[in-house]
Amino acid sequence: MLLGMTEVKDLAQNDKRQWKFEMIENKMNKGSKIAVLGVSGLVGSAIVRKLLERGYNNIIGTYKNRKPDFKGIQMLQVDLTSQEQTQKFFETVKPEYVFLAAAKVGGILANNTYKAEFIYENMAIALNVIHSAYKYGVKKLLNLGSSCIYPKHAPQPMKEEYLLTAPLEPTNEPYAIAKIAAIKLCRYYNEQYGTNFLSVMPTNLYGPFDNFNLETSHVLPALIRKFHLAKLLEEGDIEGIKRDFQKYPIGFGLDEKLDLSDQSSILQILTHLGIKFSNPVTNLEHRTLNIELQTRNKVTVTLWGAGKAYREFLHVDDLADACVFLMENIDAWSLSPSHLKSNSEHRTLNFEPLLPDYLINVGTGEDLTIDELAYTIKNIVGFRGDINYDTSKPDGTPRKLLDVTNIKRLGWSYKIGLIDGIKSVYEWYRES
Ligand code: NDP
Repeated sequence: MLLGMTEVKDLAQNDKRQWKFEMIENKMNKGSKIAVLGVSGLVGSAIVRKLLERGYNNIIGTYKNRKPDFKGIQMLQVDLTSQEQTQKFFETVKPEYVFLAAAKVGGILANNTYKAEFIYENMAIALNVIHSAYKYGVKKLLNLGSSCIYPKHAPQPMKEEYLLTAPLEPTNEPYAIAKIAAIKLCRYYNEQYGTNFLSVMPTNLYGPFDNFNLETSHVLPALIRKFHLAKLLEEGDIEGIKRDFQKYPIGFGLDEKLDLSDQSSILQILTHLGIKFSNPVTNLEHRTLNIELQTRNKVTVTLWGAGKAYREFLHVDDLADACVFLMENIDAWSLSPSHLKSNSEHRTLNFEPLLPDYLINVGTGEDLTIDELAYTIKNIVGFRGDINYDTSKPDGTPRKLLDVTNIKRLGWSYKIGLIDGIKSVYEWYRES
């Protein structure tokens, strides 16, 4: 039965448990065989960078389509929705430690359109990987989830125990259900077989190698790209705009319509993206950048919604740091008070874990409005024009903030502040 919101709040306030954990039994060493599944993704690539930085030297990465250009790690192409390919990978490679960062991921539009693919592929990846990890004796597995597993109207900030206490956001329910299934698989394999599987729920992430397609990207990379394009426009740098359009897909079917040899086509595409001169010349056919610049109009950027929704952001290098911290220092059974009293033979019995689903939030615990974020990025990019809001468009959930009390109790906090993080990503974006 679902709990009402008052009961959920009571549950949160009654959290008086003592927080203790044991240091880990099977400590990873620099030569341990570590598999990072989803190495071509935002998260997987950051985990590999962190492992290499910390001196691990026996890393195997898997990808599905995009072979990344990593030095110093072995790379294998594996479709993890295939039970046969997944089992073969675990049987032959025999990884000791596994980071599960492979998933079919997408924005609201993709989630809402390809519902069957999202639930099928993510459930298949979870089933194949988690079962194989058990079958082939993986010492520890870290499963990456997402904050969309929490109820749509969860109290803020969201604690781990709010899982399955009320209905989910319908637009990404298929994805969330698959992610919840993965969390529960980890939990029940721990309980029945004594495996050592943990799940991590990150907040909104940003970082290098993010998705900058304006149709499918998350808000932060989209704002970086929009303000960058707006700045190029106000500087009259048409060649810079062309280079940007060629570097990443634009989305919304605009790539097919773009004619790079025609300035008015470029200006029309920018207008579609909400980037335009405040009083553009009316005859689009004859618009050129010179005409627009001569009118000395300001460039404006129009954003969706009212900018009032609050969001939390974590640099992906901080998430990777948290994942490696958990892999190095925290065992699933160390989160069970019964284990503190008994020995390891009893670890599969009488579990009363401090985190019942071996699920832990990772975020900053701080949020800001989209409007504050937009002005922060505008200033970092150096765009001088104005920001407008299209309030006919939705704002999304008013607030989505993770409660990060538990990861802090375990001894981990984020290190990269939002301004420094955005500055470094913008630098990476310009140079990539
Ligand atoms: P990306 O889309 O950047 O990367 C996904 C990775 O999974 C890629 O390496 C992709 O390979 C691989 N992959 C996809 N399908 C398969 C398959 N069938 N078999 C094998 N590999 C596959 O996603 P992120 O790095 O952003 O996300 C990783 C995890 O982190 C997900 O579980 C996500 O929910 C979670 N997360 C992400 C957040 C974010 O803001 N990005 C926020 C919170 C959680 P290829 O590229 O070769 O196709």
